Amino acid sequence: MAGQTIINISNRLPVTITSDGVSKSSGGLVAALEGLDRDRYNLKWIGWAGGDLPDAQRQQQLSEQLQSQHGCIPLFLPREVANAHYEGFSNSSLWPLLHYMPLNFRYEAAWWEAYKTVNEQFAELVLKHAGDDDLIWVHDYQLMLLPGLLRQKRPDLRIGFFLHTPFPSYEVFRCHPRRIELLEGLLGADQIGFHTFGYLRHFRSSVLRLLGRTARIMRIEQPGPDSYLGVYPIGINYPKFAEGLTSPDHARRVTELRNGYGQAKVLLSVERLDYTKGIIHRLDAIELFLEESKNAENHKFILVTVPSREGVEQYQNLLEEIEHRVGRLNGRFATLKSSPIKFIHGSVDFPELLALYSLADVCLVTPLRDGMNLVAKEFIAAQQEDPGVLILSELAGAAEELTDAIQVNPFDARQNAAAINTALAMPLEERRRRIETMRRRVREVDARHWARNFIDELIARPVEPTPAAPTDALAHLLDARRAGKSIHLCLDYDGSLREIVEDPDAAAPTPELSQLLDDLQNAQGIQTTLISGRTQEDMDRLLGRWRFTLIAEHGAATRLGAQWRRHDGGVDLAWKTPIRKLLEHYTQATPGSFVEEKPTGMVWHYRSADPEFGQWRAVELAGELTTTLANDPLQVRHGRKIVEIAPSLITKGRA
Ligand code: UDP
Repeated sequence: MAGQTIINISNRLPVTITSDGVSKSSGGLVAALEGLDRDRYNLKWIGWAGGDLPDAQRQQQLSEQLQSQHGCIPLFLPREVANAHYEGFSNSSLWPLLHYMPLNFRYEAAWWEAYKTVNEQFAELVLKHAGDDDLIWVHDYQLMLLPGLLRQKRPDLRIGFFLHTPFPSYEVFRCHPRRIELLEGLLGADQIGFHTFGYLRHFRSSVLRLLGRTARIMRIEQPGPDSYLGVYPIGINYPKFAEGLTSPDHARRVTELRNGYGQAKVLLSVERLDYTKGIIHRLDAIELFLEESKNAENHKFILVTVPSREGVEQYQNLLEEIEHRVGRLNGRFATLKSSPIKFIHGSVDFPELLALYSLADVCLVTPLRDGMNLVAKEFIAAQQEDPGVLILSELAGAAEELTDAIQVNPFDARQNAAAINTALAMPLEERRRRIETMRRRVREVDARHWARNFIDELIARPVEPTPAAPTDALAHLLDARRAGKSIHLCLDYDGSLREIVEDPDAAAPTPELSQLLDDLQNAQGIQTTLISGRTQEDMDRLLGRWRFTLIAEHGAATRLGAQWRRHDGGVDLAWKTPIRKLLEHYTQATPGSFVEEKPTGMVWHYRSADPEFGQWRAVELAGELTTTLANDPLQVRHGRKIVEIAPSLITKGRA
């Protein structure tokens, strides 16, 4: 088969397996990948088969059938492991925290074990099927460890990860007992995608704070391949909606529904039954609206909730609460002719859903948090000449794109009730204008666009990490050596020979570095000088045992042979007293920072401070020092996690 092979991995396969056979399932991801150009991409899909199928022979049969007929490779899991992974760790631990709901968050050690096991089993299956040039695309919060597990075994693989949920603020994510392992797992990917820049920013901030990594704006730097971060808002299968609208059956269905509701305005909401969707809060707003409305009979609220995660207690409780609330509201506002809320707890098929979207005068999409929310985009795609109005929670990812919706805070029942009134009163021209602006976006940035964009960027990412070794210098040295020239190497220590570490005192040469320095010392025709900003004492302690020339404190002291000589005689150090005070002030206000005092200079270190706060304070400090010391023969240098003040007459270059 031609083209790039993509191994797509999600917790569930895009098929449903029942005793009657195998049927294709629908969903955002399925739609997105269906739109990929099959001449360019060859798709294999790996996922959990669902259910419990312990019989090995049946597993084998089903695997063969799925692979040949659907391009799917199933993973079979024992029921208890699948439950602890899916309902336990994924949906009771990660899901609530990713959606800013720490009160719904649970953690059990056994769930974590199952989560690791399932991710490991996924890794095993992927490795069995991944060819040399295949592209790996891992989806969502159920598989956060998978990129790291794959990277360990196959450093050469090109791995992408997309998170379909929000990524919360560091302050929320840090509550998770397994936060470090989860982040490390994700960073096995070459590219990590999010729906919004907000989620990306929070992820980056968690990585900086919890793992101490450094980062460019959109790239996490690491020992292995860097992880690039990107924003890819998922879209809908727009052509499917556009086509559905043209079918004669569609018009008939809409008319039938319309006739059933008479003159009443139809206000629709559609979602999985989930506590993130804000259903109870919406019912509060509906109650307020009905209380104030003169004629409740003229409004029909259709509430479709698709059953979801029925094994999780919080979901069962939520269903009971909704049923209770709907019953109470209908009891309170019903007349002999009608009741205001029609509650459907079940699925509707695509033609019915499309008819409901087209029919609705208002669509209420008011989640308390939502990674994206496709219902909002689908509603827009289904509007025709007499369009409805979208009321959209500002806390859904879709709010960033759909700025022409009436945006609301889902916690504010009064504002939501008022928004319903505004929507119902909105003139045709304005409804059309708003829908058309949003439709353009929904049509152009659709599911197909999303998938292509993610994959094409993943393919285009540089293969190698940022080069750490100056390869040109190496070539020069080798040429000089071949030509029999003598070489003098001047080598910087911290950050060059030895990587920067948390505690500068602990930055002694590693065994590998010691070996390298031994070799340099014994090499014919190479002289070596080690240069550092460190004190003479530090250099003696760390590097004194080699017979190299040493330059300490940026040139304030040199050791040629065995003797140290200082070059700072007569340098005025009176500036130190006021500057010490200033640095102490910054240290007190920046937890984790400290001052290092050298004979000729002073250094403010902030590597253990909060990475962003430390950086801000350092910029501020460097600015203040530059102004204060403008007329002194001193130099202020903002280096890697330090701000240093040293006499300008003393430099490494001069030394
Ligand atoms: N949907 C469905 N069956 C239904 C009603 C809706 O499959 O009976 C679809 C709907 O068309 C939408 C998806 O479910 O594509 C819901 O996606 P969304 O992003 O809104 O929320 P999620 O369920 O992913 O949290």
